[in-house]
Amino acid sequence: MCLFCKIINKEIPSNVILEDEDFLAFHDVNPKAPVHILAIPKIHVDSFNEVSGELMGKMSSFIKKVAQEVKIDKSGYRVITNIGENGGQEVQHLHFHILGGAKLSWGHFSDADPKGHF
Ligand code: AMP
Repeated sequence: MCLFCKIINKEIPSNVILEDEDFLAFHDVNPKAPVHILAIPKIHVDSFNEVSGELMGKMSSFIKKVAQEVKIDKSGYRVITNIGENGGQEVQHLHFHILGGAKLSWGHFSDADPKGHF
């Protein structure tokens, strides 16, 4: 069973922000912003590559609720999902990083030439 499935099953503790029938949101253990929450579906989906449109629709509503819950919806926030090796995905269970609580910088993404791919 994957790490986030264990968190859903409460086999591993987490600091829960919001939970419903389909989704769970909890604090990231290694925060990269004053607010750093992970939102995940309760069914196991490997990554954004595999998620259905139907689940993504519900997930979007849940993410907005989380932002309201922690009062960053008005000040602004960032939603990120890492996909696969180049995306930097470490946990193979679909998750959305919800980052906010301060003005976020637009960072350095790679050492490769940003104009080099196409
Ligand atoms: P990613 O690199 O997109 O796969 O992100 C995985 C995230 O999960 C990282 O930001 C980690 O800090 C976070 N993480 C790993 N283990 C835990 C845990 N037990 N509880 C909360 N967050 C975790």
